[in-house]
Amino acid sequence: MKTIGLIGGMSWESSVVYYKIINQKVKAILGGVHSCQSLMYSVDFGEIAELQHQGDWSKLGELMADAAQRLERGGADFIILCTNTMHKLSDKIEDSVKIPLIHIADVTAEAIKQKDMKKVALLGTKFTMEQDFLKGRLNKIHGIETIIPNEEQRTTIHRIIYEELVKGIIKEDSRTAYLEIINDLIQKGAEGVILGCTEIGLLITNEFTDAILFDTTEIHAIKAVEMALT
Ligand code: GLU
Repeated sequence: MKTIGLIGGMSWESSVVYYKIINQKVKAILGGVHSCQSLMYSVDFGEIAELQHQGDWSKLGELMADAAQRLERGGADFIILCTNTMHKLSDKIEDSVKIPLIHIADVTAEAIKQKDMKKVALLGTKFTMEQDFLKGRLNKIHGIETIIPNEEQRTTIHRIIYEELVKGIIKEDSRTAYLEIINDLIQKGAEGVILGCTEIGLLITNEFTDAILFDTTEIHAIKAVEMALT
């Protein structure tokens, strides 16, 4: 088994889910008491969130490169970055280590293509919904078109991520708000919905909607295990 290197802590609420999925998946495949060989370097999200909102992506790039190098030195065979937003800096990570980074957009695109879909909604932080690092990659490399929520909806989604989900707070009102936005995007032609923030799966699952969901946390974690076992 290869060793998965996880850059976690963004937030730890979703890193826990990654850790659980990779171990459950290895157990499901190998049976017995098998579990996933992994290393996680978990950052202080307080520092990260502050730098994000100050727009200091250069300092954030240094922090991500440092995290990746720690994992490489520790013996990781490849890296997964357990957040969509910080994939804005994926090139900084790739430039700083020799081991590969498994990009969250590529594995999500694979799952979307398996369902023969071409146009999907994208929910995530404002950084992810408004900038091109994820949408652009989905479109240019994979030919997948994304629809994003309107400005008011984006503000709601972003606020709930940073004020509630990264703190592990789950509110019924917030779930209703997300579900209304999902329905609206489906009306606008989305064939499925990317949960493009690793905490959204804490709030929205198919227990609450019939929409086809692409939960980036689950897709990314499962792909990492498949790679670790090949
Ligand atoms: N985990 C989130 C994401 O997937 C947001 C936290 C962050 O900004 O890294 O984008």
